[in-house]
Amino acid sequence: MFDLLIKNGTVITVDAQHRIFQPGYIAIKNDSIAEIGPMESMPENIQAMRVIDAAGKAVMPGLIDGHGHAGHCLIKTFAEHNDTENPPGWWGSMAEDIYFHYTDEFFWYAEGALAAAERLKFGITTGVSMLGSTPRPDRLENLVAHFEGAIKTGLRQISGIGSCDGPWPKKPWVWENGSYYETEFTPEQMVENTERAVRELNGKHKRQMCIVAPGSLGINEAKGDTREFSIWKNKQMGRIAQEYNVPLHTHIYGGGLQFVYDTTPELLGPTTSLTHSTGLSQREIEILAETGAVLFHGPTTRANIKKRCPVYEVLRAGGEVVIVTDGTAPDRSYDIWRDMKIFQVLHRAHENDPLLAPPGRVLEMCTIRAARALGIDKITGSLEVGKRADIIIINTQQPHLAPFGIMPVHRIVYHAQGQDVETVIVDGEIMMENRQMLACDEKRILADAEKAFSELCQRLGEEKVKAFTAYNDIYGLRGSPTPNPYSL
Ligand SMILES: [Zn+2]
Repeated sequence: MFDLLIKNGTVITVDAQHRIFQPGYIAIKNDSIAEIGPMESMPENIQAMRVIDAAGKAVMPGLIDGHGHAGHCLIKTFAEHNDTENPPGWWGSMAEDIYFHYTDEFFWYAEGALAAAERLKFGITTGVSMLGSTPRPDRLENLVAHFEGAIKTGLRQISGIGSCDGPWPKKPWVWENGSYYETEFTPEQMVENTERAVRELNGKHKRQMCIVAPGSLGINEAKGDTREFSIWKNKQMGRIAQEYNVPLHTHIYGGGLQFVYDTTPELLGPTTSLTHSTGLSQREIEILAETGAVLFHGPTTRANIKKRCPVYEVLRAGGEVVIVTDGTAPDRSYDIWRDMKIFQVLHRAHENDPLLAPPGRVLEMCTIRAARALGIDKITGSLEVGKRADIIIINTQQPHLAPFGIMPVHRIVYHAQGQDVETVIVDGEIMMENRQMLACDEKRILADAEKAFSELCQRLGEEKVKAFTAYNDIYGLRGSPTPNPYSL
């Protein structure tokens, strides 16, 4: 007797043989896939506690979003128009100010739940998040609250902290009962907390993985980091990831990768994920291929708009690339289906070749290839016997997907969107059915998010909220008159 049987659907396995069963079945026992195959091989006397008839629908592995930021769901669109204003980059100052000074545990809990709900409803069954913009590593309570919010939705959540931008020491605020006190936080304490987080939180829940996630691994001289300090900090991040056998996940940019390779090459390997990787030199492209470190590419991120990410140069050199959302602030979403399509358009246009980025390859970049880079391909990323049952069912009985009989992967990748995901199963448990979340109360998640947002705005005060939300260039005017609260 199986626990769950999905039958009659178009089963897209994303396995090494690229098998598609049309129609096929999947039998699930406990949390894993026990049998999978074409309908004609399904035993006649097969029995299961629960049967889902997926006739006319697509059945696929749950998607993996390899990079996002805890916190961003509650500040999305804040200061969206100011990123390129003069002086440049006050969006980053704003995010740092909010995350280090105006958040409490409830903020991280409510945002963790909201973000995980958004991801899950778009068919993402594993999501990676860095706690903050560059991470806020001073209080593990915040990370614990974030995990608690995320895990209750049913998502497989991979999150972490690590080194943040200077200058040091950091002076984060802690909010209690409507008022705050300032604390001081040194780089040594950051290393200690990163290690403690991995030691205490990794695997605490079956779907919870705590990794090492520094904001960047290069050298940030503008924030006062010296060469010696950066090498020390980077070494510590690599040491913790290696000692606890967890992925090392970070942002990196042109020049930064060369610095890491020259000073701490042992940090670069197949479970090192390097988000953005924009502005890479020819030598850095080769370094990715030589070391096996994986490029986590967010086609809709601002980094990618400001400087090009040489995706096809990396692929041609033999490197590995994964597609991520970098959700959600200021201007993105967790709908990774959008990123798949934008990935195709961007790189086909740049390479002047409409045959690049075929849909099967693009789908792998959000499933099995992402799983491999995160070291979890033994348990998820494709539909195979023995792997956890992380499965999504797409409702293809809709005008934009019908008729759904031929070229199923093309039709899914080109035409489906996040809201077409009808059912989400993680670890064999149905977490969403007919778009209703089952493991948690979605209305409560939305109400908690409203409350956390309104409390955040109260703490920020009227003037800052006004500066962050004055969308005075929505009709294309440049040069926002919004005062920059961070100018000197
Ligand atoms: Zn990011």
